[in-house]
Amino acid sequence: MNIHEYQAKSILKKYGVTIQEGIVADTPGKAVEAAKQLQHDTGTSWWVVKAQIHAGGRGKGGGVKLAKSLQEVEEHAKHILGMRLVTHQTGPEGKKVHKILIAQDVYYPGESEPKEYYVSILLDRGRGENVIMASTEGGMDIEEVAKNTPEKIIKEWINPAQGLKPYQARKVAYKLGLEGKVAREMTKFIMALYKAYVSSDASLFEINPALKTSDNKILAVDAKVNLDDNALYRHPDLMEMRDVTEEDPLELEASEAGLNYIKLDGNVGCMVNGAGLAMATMDIIKLSGGEPANFLDVGGTANPKTVEAGFRIILKDPNVKAILINIFGGIVRCDRVATGVVEAYKNIGEIEVPIIVRLQGTNAEEGAKIIDESGLKVRSAVLLKDAARLVTEVLEESAR
Ligand code: GDP
Ligand code: MN
Repeated sequence: MNIHEYQAKSILKKYGVTIQEGIVADTPGKAVEAAKQLQHDTGTSWWVVKAQIHAGGRGKGGGVKLAKSLQEVEEHAKHILGMRLVTHQTGPEGKKVHKILIAQDVYYPGESEPKEYYVSILLDRGRGENVIMASTEGGMDIEEVAKNTPEKIIKEWINPAQGLKPYQARKVAYKLGLEGKVAREMTKFIMALYKAYVSSDASLFEINPALKTSDNKILAVDAKVNLDDNALYRHPDLMEMRDVTEEDPLELEASEAGLNYIKLDGNVGCMVNGAGLAMATMDIIKLSGGEPANFLDVGGTANPKTVEAGFRIILKDPNVKAILINIFGGIVRCDRVATGVVEAYKNIGEIEVPIIVRLQGTNAEEGAKIIDESGLKVRSAVLLKDAARLVTEVLEESAR
């Protein structure tokens, strides 16, 4: 689950990570009130107005604006609230801004220039360990840094049994070129960040930028957090941070129907029972010259209703040129799935997209019979390789 910057910062603060202070608002009036409150609490007289959406790159897209007066706070708030913010992470349709964060300006000039760093903790699945990543190239797109100047990314892996040791955090600070008081500040920052990460069962805490202010403090200016969905039941307070308006509408509909669905960019929709078979089916689609349009595991308890819900969701994706249903009947019976397919056809109306069905296992013959007798234009396959060939055929036909 992703959360907003203002929510991520509230977690950071709770665990002692120093942050750029801010107050969230959803109207220009409240934005001005927030700015006054921050002036009172922090002494700041400049502010930044920041769009709150589940995507990065907001600054470049015009969603982060400096305000040098309360009037400018109001103007920026009016402009940003309700806008469709387009960034390299939102896709061309952008995301509508419902909330803004009014934050203290922390880039004020002083004895030395402020400097932006990149600091993150994430799960390295390949090594089975959490890893700290840091770089002096803060404020930039880290994927670009990794591609062009990988030597500028510092990595420190964390032994899961021992946790993060202070010497490791010191090492990162030192490799960032920091010394003295500010190195100690960065060490404290990283230790607290790790505590926040582990305590929230997160898979990512990314601070970009972490700012060294001109008075040598380290502050989290931005925060991107990803929480492990499977651990959310342990964190009712974090669960409340879910913002369904930010989620893909098809994924939301699927989760309400109890389906494991992930939207992808391809042209062949698939409906499968079991996550392993679903992955294998996606491989088959690729080998047949297609691209999977989704991952969909209807689960072991698939019934005509869940099958219909899955169908509707796949059909709402305009990129889908073919649908491959691949069911291995174990606990779920093939005849029930077949009934679901037929019912869905009847209820949804004319389905233009060609459908390939492969039913194997318990009651496969009964299932095939139900489909054959329904008079539907469904191509059925028994072997996986036949299903793959049919996918290729259907895609070639649709390309003509
Ligand atoms: P992102 O673009 O979505 O990653 O949003 P960030 O929170 O990282 O903000 C983008 C950029 O806005 C930062 O890299 C800074 O350059 C700028 N910015 C953020 N906070 C402040 C601030 O307090 N003062 C000034 N002057 N600029 C800021
Ligand atoms: Mn950022």
